[in-house]
Amino acid sequence: MSLVDLSPEAFASHLLSLGQRRAYFVHDASSGQIQCSHPELAQVADFLLAGNRDYRKHEGVFLAVGERSGALFGAFVDRSVRGQGQGGLRYWPYASLAGFLRDGLRLATGMTRKNALAGLWWGGGKGLIARAPGEAFRDPARRAVLYGEYAAFVTSLRGCYITAEDAGTGPDDMATVHQHTRFVTCVPPAIGGSGNPSPATARGVVCAMEGALAHLDLGTLAGKRVAMQGTGNVGAAMIGELLQRGVAAIVASELSPERRAQLAQQFAGAPLTLTAAEPGDNSVLATPCDILAPNALGGILNPDTIPTLQTRIVCGAANNQLLDDERDAAALTARGIVYVPDYLCNRMGIVNCANEQYGYVPHDPAIERHFGREWDNSVYLITRRALERAASEGITTAAAANHLADELAREPHPIWGHRTRAIIDGLVADRWHLGG
Ligand code: NAD
Repeated sequence: MSLVDLSPEAFASHLLSLGQRRAYFVHDASSGQIQCSHPELAQVADFLLAGNRDYRKHEGVFLAVGERSGALFGAFVDRSVRGQGQGGLRYWPYASLAGFLRDGLRLATGMTRKNALAGLWWGGGKGLIARAPGEAFRDPARRAVLYGEYAAFVTSLRGCYITAEDAGTGPDDMATVHQHTRFVTCVPPAIGGSGNPSPATARGVVCAMEGALAHLDLGTLAGKRVAMQGTGNVGAAMIGELLQRGVAAIVASELSPERRAQLAQQFAGAPLTLTAAEPGDNSVLATPCDILAPNALGGILNPDTIPTLQTRIVCGAANNQLLDDERDAAALTARGIVYVPDYLCNRMGIVNCANEQYGYVPHDPAIERHFGREWDNSVYLITRRALERAASEGITTAAAANHLADELAREPHPIWGHRTRAIIDGLVADRWHLGG
């Protein structure tokens, strides 16, 4: 059995049995090898280099075991040429260390791309806390320990990774993190954070819809039919944006009866049909429409659903909509459906909070330019560029967005250059793994 097949909890015990709490795997560009903190963990380095397609020579993977919690922590820095590795902290159960590593690697790469396409001077990073089976994960006392320890771990990394909120992590957890490290963004408004990003996310996705329509020469949103899965924070705001632009009809499915009743009242008289759904119900995706907006869950574009779609465009806020990135992007292209990659259109969640340390101005031009059509990195123009590139190069829209993102990710930060790499090298030189 390889070390990566161990559960995160068993791996944490193994690390402790080596007399260590910390481990790192840092890519060395000159040798093409991984610098590994402990020779005993060579199997993990081999897994990263040879064992999976999610590893693309990430600059640094850092692991630690919480002193009181015993939980396994991860911080993943993918590319940091544009700036410090930034991305949310996920508190999630994993069956094996392999699954934990794959998720962190993949999500960090996603953040490199999302940040670069959004024109943010951040690199890509991601944080993970492994949730153990049977753990009292809702217990506020447990969470206070976990997030306090995780924040100390982030501090120890000297700013190569900047954490934020993500799945499984809430505003209270971020407030705890903020008490223990300065390397955090997307904190609650009560301590200077930027607040609910959902209206901005909805508006950004609608700009991407306009870009996709223009790309297909289909005019504006006026008179179009939109189908939507999920009317939560983003979906509800999107309904308002779409109605303002004169869409002919919106069909939206929603699990929660209370939510449906509230929206029926809020948008009474509007061309909005709200339909009930049960968990796992994807039937709304087959609604005949001009644009389909998945605003609920990931993984819903897959071999079961793609053949049923009756839309020209898929453009929604949900993260990781494709179950398998390459296979499902190709299947959508083969059906002539223009898919706007989620990380390209749902950027405003991160944009809204990414620069909160620089303070706030009313109608902030640094935010507003994302919704316009002048700035090169606006949602509208980036969408058009990615879709045009896909068409002219005969590749999927996801591949085109990735190429564009990877080019942008190679632009060095205008002030700090590739300083984050120097931070990582400093951690290795100072034997970071022996601390903690
Ligand atoms: P939310 O939890 O407020 O809303 C999701 C809604 O989808 C809920 O109302 C839920 O009842 C509904 N739902 C779940 N499964 C469904 C199903 N099978 N059929 C119909 N409805 C279903 O979440 P949100 O903040 O609106 O975010 C939506 C998606 O967008 C998530 O994937 C999120 O990760 C992503 N996202 C959100 C933001 C943001 O700013 N909030 C930013 C980027 C990405």
